[in-house]
Amino acid sequence: MRHRNVRILATLGPSSDDLAAALALHEAGADAFRLNMSHSDHADLKRRVEMIRELERQTGRPIAILVDLQGPKLRIGKMAGDGADLTNGTTFILDMDDAPGTDKRAPLPHKEIFEVAEPGHSLLLDDGKIRLRVEDVSDSKLTTTVMAGGHLTSRKGVNIPDARLPIPALTTKDRSDLEAALNLNVDWIALSFVQSAQDVAEAKKIARGRAAVMAKMEKPSAIDDLDAILDIADGLMVARGDLGVECPVETVPGLQKRLTRAARRAGKPVVVATQMLESMIENPVPTRAEVSDVATAVFEGADAVMLSAESAAGKYPVEAVAVMNRIAESIETDPNYAQIINAQRSEPEPTGPDALSNAARTVAETLNAAAIVCYTTSGSTGLRAARERSRVPVMVLTPHLPTARRLSLVWGLNCVLTDDAANLDDMVDRAGRLAFREGMARVGDRIVIMAGVPLGTPGATNMLRVAFVADSAANHPN
Ligand code: PEP
Repeated sequence: MRHRNVRILATLGPSSDDLAAALALHEAGADAFRLNMSHSDHADLKRRVEMIRELERQTGRPIAILVDLQGPKLRIGKMAGDGADLTNGTTFILDMDDAPGTDKRAPLPHKEIFEVAEPGHSLLLDDGKIRLRVEDVSDSKLTTTVMAGGHLTSRKGVNIPDARLPIPALTTKDRSDLEAALNLNVDWIALSFVQSAQDVAEAKKIARGRAAVMAKMEKPSAIDDLDAILDIADGLMVARGDLGVECPVETVPGLQKRLTRAARRAGKPVVVATQMLESMIENPVPTRAEVSDVATAVFEGADAVMLSAESAAGKYPVEAVAVMNRIAESIETDPNYAQIINAQRSEPEPTGPDALSNAARTVAETLNAAAIVCYTTSGSTGLRAARERSRVPVMVLTPHLPTARRLSLVWGLNCVLTDDAANLDDMVDRAGRLAFREGMARVGDRIVIMAGVPLGTPGATNMLRVAFVADSAANHPN
């Protein structure tokens, strides 16, 4: 079991592409792995999924696999030669002509942009390094003024933050990647460039519960539709890379707080992503500012912190995970941590699972219990228990491997696969035995058990039981 609540999500890539490398990341602290379809084909996907499942067999720990779909990434077309310099104050045209671009114009093969762009809108190229202001729009031509120039090369990304584009979040490639990922039984799908709850609904309709769907928050229109997105999505990712292009970069920390708090309130996992330890792509140690950034996400009670190129393509993937692990462990033992986490705790909603989760936390904290043990089938009670951000560690028991895997991305949940309890005595014995086996409780410790009677009925959480870990827990074969 990890000695921290926040989870670490590490992206796999060329720097971490075999079983030994993935095992090293897991041992350093990675709880879940992200596979980025912007840089993988179906053969890579299958090989990596099989590799993580083998790692899971070897370690005996449920591990979540999150497949990140590329989404509708818009790009300019080809530039002539090695590109052109765009100068501040000059006019620059984007059009549907596929002749290679120059310092006067470039091809933009996305007719949807011409349909929605308006004079005054910003158009950002190359991750926002070049900024254009739209002056005039026709069916196939945008006339712009260069506000912040730079060197523009072929196929650079285009963002148009002021407009909502008439495009679905799932491209043809995404649909095919999604189908491949679902056939491989991955646990989470991350949806890029979500613009509205409708985009999430579309992915959920295809997934049909076979994988949970995480909405990547990287567009202003998604922020505007946050409540509806949170209603339907299974989780959020604060995708700070594109978010910091689409929104003024100085607003990203505030948005991160807002998104983290909203997801916590909804009881849905939230991942803070991108550039967390960026300098560790090249260096074995992080900057002080990066340490502080990871610490902020941990103090906010985010469910997971993510590594992208640091673990996928950097020189120090294991060191990056180890540094994240050390920061998380250190922050979670900081004297201010509990108070900061508690300040953002939401009131329970008027449901059985919330009332019991809240009661389990207060009982466990009052009694100084060793663990809260939560029986869950679908995982929904586990999520409500995590929403309490309990000081007492939570162990989730489930007979359902996909639930254990999915919840391994969630704050503070230590997931263990076990059969449903046969009766109430077995429920108590099993909880004590597994808490002992996992090093979460000793003989004589008190544990607080949440379950539903009739046992094994999804959605029936209705019982709280305080029990002592019996002597027999130490002598049982499992
Ligand atoms: C991001 O933009 O922060 C992000 C996580 O998405 P991607 O890495 O796919 O661009």
